[in-house]
Amino acid sequence: MPGKNLSREEARQRARSIDLDRYRVHLDLTSAPDPAATTFRSTTTIEFRSSALGSATFVDLLAPAVRAVRLNGRDLDPAEVFDGARIALDGLAGTNELVVEADCAYSRTGEGMHRFVDPADGETYLYTHFEPADARRVFATFEQPDLKAPFTFTVTAPAAWDVYANAVHEEITEDGAARTWRFAPTKPISTYLTAVVAGPYHVARDHYGRDLPDGTRLEIPLAATCRRSLAPHFDADDIFTVTKQGLDFFHDEFDYPYPFGKYDQCFVPEYNIGAMENPGCVTFREEFVFRSKVTDAAYEGRANVVLHEMAHMWFGDLVTPKWWDDLWLKESFADFMGSISQVEATRWTGAWTTFANRRKAWAYRQDQFPTTHPITADIRDLEDAKLNFDGITYAKGASVLKQLVAYVGRDAFFAGARQYFKRHAYGNTVLTDLLDALEQTSGRDLKTWSAAWLQTSGVNALTPQLTADADGRITEFAVLQDGTTLRPHRIAVGLYDRDAAGDLVRTELVELDVTGARTVVPALAGRPRPALVLVNDADLTYCKIRFDEVSLETLRGGLGLIRDDLARALAWSAVWNLTRDGLMPTRDYLDLVLRFAGRESDIGVLQSLHQQAKGALDLYADPAWRAEGGRLLAEGAVRELRAAAPGSDQQLAWARFTALVADAPEQLQLVRGLLEGTARIDGLDVDQELRWALWLPLAASGDAGAEELEGELQRDNTASGRRQLVQCLAARPTPEAKAAAWAAVVDSDELPNALVEAQIAGFAQAGRRDLTAGYTDRYFAVLESVWEQRTIEIAMRIVGGFFPKFQTEQATLDRADAWLDGHPDAAPALRRLVLECRDDLARALRAQACDRG
Ligand SMILES: [Zn+2]
Repeated sequence: MPGKNLSREEARQRARSIDLDRYRVHLDLTSAPDPAATTFRSTTTIEFRSSALGSATFVDLLAPAVRAVRLNGRDLDPAEVFDGARIALDGLAGTNELVVEADCAYSRTGEGMHRFVDPADGETYLYTHFEPADARRVFATFEQPDLKAPFTFTVTAPAAWDVYANAVHEEITEDGAARTWRFAPTKPISTYLTAVVAGPYHVARDHYGRDLPDGTRLEIPLAATCRRSLAPHFDADDIFTVTKQGLDFFHDEFDYPYPFGKYDQCFVPEYNIGAMENPGCVTFREEFVFRSKVTDAAYEGRANVVLHEMAHMWFGDLVTPKWWDDLWLKESFADFMGSISQVEATRWTGAWTTFANRRKAWAYRQDQFPTTHPITADIRDLEDAKLNFDGITYAKGASVLKQLVAYVGRDAFFAGARQYFKRHAYGNTVLTDLLDALEQTSGRDLKTWSAAWLQTSGVNALTPQLTADADGRITEFAVLQDGTTLRPHRIAVGLYDRDAAGDLVRTELVELDVTGARTVVPALAGRPRPALVLVNDADLTYCKIRFDEVSLETLRGGLGLIRDDLARALAWSAVWNLTRDGLMPTRDYLDLVLRFAGRESDIGVLQSLHQQAKGALDLYADPAWRAEGGRLLAEGAVRELRAAAPGSDQQLAWARFTALVADAPEQLQLVRGLLEGTARIDGLDVDQELRWALWLPLAASGDAGAEELEGELQRDNTASGRRQLVQCLAARPTPEAKAAAWAAVVDSDELPNALVEAQIAGFAQAGRRDLTAGYTDRYFAVLESVWEQRTIEIAMRIVGGFFPKFQTEQATLDRADAWLDGHPDAAPALRRLVLECRDDLARALRAQACDRG
């Protein structure tokens, strides 16, 4: 479609030629409950100025039909000016008024105006999601972040519904079966940050207030919404508690009153991402409303997202990147702020451990792809932008900010942020605007730092190098750095020895700067050689941690005995990286998990270990040993499940892991027994979500058929239940089940995003590689048509989800290379996804070779 993919250059030109005054948007959503209605009426009025009289520009709109276009009272023929993605405007006056009436489409992909019908009660729910450029699916826009304006939304909806938008509503008028909600104008914001949420949502309300330094009082009404059928599970109080803790923290630190009036947090169905920072109207995936027991890691994760989005109100919403090149400016900042506020203002004081363990794993993975990029990326167009919501932009960026805080100090860092908000409020910025503020408050030159950390890609590995004398005293201690770009690192080196109880405890912590390939640390000379050296202890910098021989032996014998939670998490992360890099045999890694995961007290770390162990078995284990490894893992899972404290988070985590790895008849029998109530684990509540998790291995092994699985839906005829049934059905080990899943996703575009995901997850079970082997050629054959015909959100899932990753053999790698060689001109974003899958596969083959020995 011409013009669908807006380029940076076009956006720059447009920003130079016009200035925006305001938008007024009227949406008529009264058709939504009628499943036959595919569109809604959208009327946009944009007031803007042009500096060049008689010049031309365009507005963006993705709509099935445009009914009228009126520019300064002059009717333009939609057939002439609308090409399906843009409306061409010419003959601009100094001040202009554009009115566009269109029929816009309800979405099933989570992009634009998503419509969802609740199977539990038949109610219809709508919400919008626009980042990076989907507001144009709902109204006519200048779809780029640096054309900010105040928005006034008016929404007509069924009378029984409530409507939420960025601002408070000023008036509701009734007209029979419909009500019209007129919202106050917003502050100047970018198009991608506008939001409308409409439906018979359940709402909980609360309130936040504080006295400001200037003597005035700030009052923020709080609301939290979810679907009505989820209301019994909605723990809004916990969400409000975190919300208030966050508002306290950010007001203390940012010294800029929350600028957007009220603060609604809407939990919405079939949401593609974790959450979105729409000012005053944050949207979250509703899986954060917990229907069944979850571990505290899930509560911690939710709180982290609440705080991340809240940080965006200042960083992203009040001050917004000029273009998607500087997406990281807002995302890494929000990620960093989410964690620091969580550590300092909530009950999750161990959030830095989670950051080290989870967020950084994402960054390290992404940063080793051939497609990795500097944190400050080169984003040519919207397709580039869409793929850049990645581990570099979020997690590496946040890690680097954490390193920056270690470098300039916490006070200077926050002082810089405060200055930045005041200087650029309601404006748009680029990287140098932030660096300027930080240089002023820290008195440091950040050019070198920025060049080393923000404008290069790749991760360094840091390795300790020790020599000792005959008495076991260190004669020289050095830190080796490798990687394509050597960087300055502020690190702490920890030395560990066993205490009387046999635990590994820190005996020494030295902070230092590492520069270049080898940095000698004179301070450590003369000390007794420790059992374990942990470079980057305290996780100040972003690097892969390596070990000397003695330390590695110590870990093999006692990784789980490191007493400090963060240090232990760093050690787990390091051995995982060794395994991924083909430097530690997969069976050795799994052996560590089997011996020490059972005593892991940090529930988030334990759940990461479970995921990684499953991934290591499926992808990194020597195929000749895989069955044996699977048996050991499954037996270990059942052993730990039985040993875990009744009712504990650990017990639930091991139950879920048992379901994930159960394969042999005795484990499947236990799983079935738990479902049928004939087997019991003391303290384990087999609730609805756990039931579905237990059905999955029974489905995948062929132990449970369609009838039984569909029977479970009778117990749980909900959105979540339907998704999980779809996954279970696609997981069955028959050619027909695989063919049906493939057809439902690839040959048809009827399914909503959530069911596309469920089908793919079921299809791609590792267990029966023989059944999916025949799809490799079909996959490469459909790639381009999928990319062209589907929305990018769905296309990304298909390309990533159906890649034949379980066909871990050289032939698959050759097939991927042949496709890449034969399609040099395929869309860059598509090539990037295939390259990354290909690289994962090559990594798996290397790890398998290491495991083979
Ligand atoms: Zn964010």
